Amino acid sequence: MTQFIDLGLAAPILKALGEEGYATPTPIQAAAIPHVITGRDLVGIAQTGTGKTAAFALPILNRLANDQRRPARNACRVLVLSPTRELSAQILDSFRRYGRHLGLSSALVIGGVPIERQARTIAPGIDILVATPGRLLDLVNRFRFRLDNVDTLVLDEADRMLDMGFIHAIKAICGKLPAERLSLLFSATMPPAIAALAEQFLRNPARVAVTPPAATVDAIDQRVIMLDRGAKPTALAELLRQPEVRRALVFTRTKHGADRVVRGLEKSGITAEAIHGNKAQGQRERALGGFRNGRVRVLVATDIAARGIDVDDISHVINFDLPNIAETYVHRIGRTARAGTSGVAISFCSDADERGYLRDIETLIRRRIPASQRNGAERAAAPAAPAPRPPQPAAQARPDRRGHRPAKGRNKAAVNAARGAGEDLGGLSFLRQPVRSGERPNRGSRPRDERKIGNDR
Ligand code: AMP
Repeated sequence: MTQFIDLGLAAPILKALGEEGYATPTPIQAAAIPHVITGRDLVGIAQTGTGKTAAFALPILNRLANDQRRPARNACRVLVLSPTRELSAQILDSFRRYGRHLGLSSALVIGGVPIERQARTIAPGIDILVATPGRLLDLVNRFRFRLDNVDTLVLDEADRMLDMGFIHAIKAICGKLPAERLSLLFSATMPPAIAALAEQFLRNPARVAVTPPAATVDAIDQRVIMLDRGAKPTALAELLRQPEVRRALVFTRTKHGADRVVRGLEKSGITAEAIHGNKAQGQRERALGGFRNGRVRVLVATDIAARGIDVDDISHVINFDLPNIAETYVHRIGRTARAGTSGVAISFCSDADERGYLRDIETLIRRRIPASQRNGAERAAAPAAPAPRPPQPAAQARPDRRGHRPAKGRNKAAVNAARGAGEDLGGLSFLRQPVRSGERPNRGSRPRDERKIGNDR
């Protein structure tokens, strides 16, 4: 397997990676880094959680390490455009972590903070600037910043930038960049508008992609528990006390979240181990070995750390946090029900801020996951009949404006009434307080800040 050391990265970058505990590049990193190091434009199809930020940050840092020019006043050498403030801050943080031994300057230009202060911060010239398009264009139009010195451009999450209406700002910014530059575009999807953008602003780009899996494994019994965020630790402990849970893999969105979960379980008298990027390789291997040989019954992992886990006979996958990328859900639950065994996947969904993620997952897997309220946690550990199919394939049974899906063969009111009365609707009998179909907001109603992406895996 390729190691970072094989990719030709400069020693200060390898040192920082070692300190981060990263030894092996993720697939998108292994595919993208060699192209960027040699100065080729690149289109990367990858979602958050795949390690895509380092896929562009590392080779860009490498180029800067090999070229000690100083940035000009009111200008930058590397420009990264990203759709949101949160993502921009996370990208900047990645550049700073991986580049901490290089002595480079970096800054953030985002809306919502005083523009004058921002203009003053970047006035001396900046090596790496991460910006949201609107605010950057504002600074450029006020003649407080110039783009004619940029030698590397990154358009990150290009599809989201387009969704958020930044196309004109992006085109205006790209129009002011020097023709001679390196350009990278990353996007989770490749609709025609993104292909056109790449065609217009990139030159003969290499293409790399990490493909999401197509469908959920049918043998997995999937359930959701709707609950308050604060109730998750207790619900998890209750669940893990069930004898059916022989070997459980618990997923959190962040490294700190994983540590918190382990500490919480320890307080409840349940032994668990965490694996994530902050753990030394040796610690990870020990935890994984213990999980494999049965000494560790509960392993708490982040998505990237879980990539190397190839353990059969995981009886339960528990999503302590729902992933913000629907495909990640499919990857996660695919860890159970391997080699012909059956498995249970239980997801905690915070009432306040994870319903949009659940909706995305159900749309992707084209089925509705049976849901119970918090007090269904204990019984949800027991095997149940296979999860029912949604009333109709998602493509035909579109939710109405309030999020109701039409029910096939039964009148919708009758279905809701039956659920309220606790009637078994084919495998839903474990629900004590079923969630009615209209209670989940549809995608359009998801608040923007809920799309915030955790980069702390
Ligand atoms: P991203 O897809 O860029 O949001 O990255 C997801 C998370 O994976 C980030 O928290 C990174 O710190 C982490 N990460 C990136 N590359 C690696 C790697 N090669 N090994 C372990 N963790 C990584």
